[in-house]
Amino acid sequence: MLRIAPTFTVETPTTVDEVVALLQRHGPEARVVAGGTDVMPNLKHGLYEPKVLVSLGRVQGLDGLDLSGDPLSLGALVTLHRLAEHPEVRHLLPSLAAAVGHVAGPQHRRMGTLGGNVCLDTRCVYINQTYFWREALGFCIKKDGTECHVTRTGKKCVAAASNDSAPPLLTLDARLEIVGVGGRREVALDDFYVNDGVKNNALAQGEVVTRILVPRPAPIRRFGFDKLRIRESVDFPMLNVAVAFDLVDGQARRPDIVVSAIAARPRRVKGLPEGLLNHVLVAEWGEKAFQSTRPLPNINGDVEWRREMVPVLVRRAVAAATE
Ligand SMILES: Cc1cc2nc3c(=O)[nH]c(=O)nc-3n(C[C@H](O)[C@H](O)[C@H](O)COP(=O)(O)OP(=O)(O)OC[C@H]3O[C@@H](n4cnc5c(N)ncnc54)[C@H](O)[C@@H]3O)c2cc1C
Ligand code: SF4
Repeated sequence: MLRIAPTFTVETPTTVDEVVALLQRHGPEARVVAGGTDVMPNLKHGLYEPKVLVSLGRVQGLDGLDLSGDPLSLGALVTLHRLAEHPEVRHLLPSLAAAVGHVAGPQHRRMGTLGGNVCLDTRCVYINQTYFWREALGFCIKKDGTECHVTRTGKKCVAAASNDSAPPLLTLDARLEIVGVGGRREVALDDFYVNDGVKNNALAQGEVVTRILVPRPAPIRRFGFDKLRIRESVDFPMLNVAVAFDLVDGQARRPDIVVSAIAARPRRVKGLPEGLLNHVLVAEWGEKAFQSTRPLPNINGDVEWRREMVPVLVRRAVAAATE
């Protein structure tokens, strides 16, 4: 039997206030859509069934890039393509430009937005399937069911954060500007992601991300990113790693590494040593990252292999940072 995608209406507000009012009026029956590159496949698969899509496409002022001050301001509607190609973004935020330049394929990056990427839903081999596939196996906690096919016994969804912008933005200490009925608030990206695959962010009902704010990096700070995926285009990450550190006279200080696509929330590696930046130090960082990473069979790729690749990606990300 053919399952038709549910019918919905599309609202096209032109101001953030109108967006918030629509989200308030329709409550849980409404869903925000930006570029729609993730929302549309998910709608077809019945992963959610909103009655109203609130499109951000015509909202004025959300696609601005202001790189003149501190913090740098990246509008939620800025496309991934624009960010990846922007010379000043590539210069100031090289790991972010690299990460968004490796999202999906060229068409997705021209439609897909930074806000949509930051708010991307988690993914799992048992949920990103057609309705009939999921029905045949038995629905799971994330939608319509009560068990998790990954952990079997767990009562929590462990679907993986799969957005490539999150690790570099975390190493950049980014903050989000969020607007809702209560007005405007700012939240550190560190506090935005939560470890729950059903909904892995702290957006309240009716709230929308309007800007991503990034402290202007100091010239001594280095940033790198690398990603593991099946093909060199289109595919979601099986693992992604962002690194950042200060580099002065060959010494690496304040190292920061974030690993993602392993759990619902990106993971920051703790206890990284400082010192002369050489292969010994980078191997120590890789080992720390390896020890703190336990991939799950929630996305494609053998879990042991994905774990073994963590130090490799750390090394490549450091190489990218020092190029
Ligand atoms: C074949 C394919 C491959 C892909 N590969 C990758 C990949 O390698 N890496 C990757 O990171 N992504 C990948 N994606 C997912 C997607 O294309 C990108 O993440 C894209 O950046 C999503 O942006 P969007 O504007 O299209 O978001 P949408 O699809 O419009 O929205 C995504 C989610 O964010 C919410 N949302 C959007 N904007 C806002 C906002 N301003 N405030 C609050 N909530 C908001 C929506 O409600 C929805 O839940 C892939 C998608 C496809 C179809
Ligand atoms: S992790 Fe478990 S509950 Fe979550 S989507 Fe996968 S199978 Fe479903």
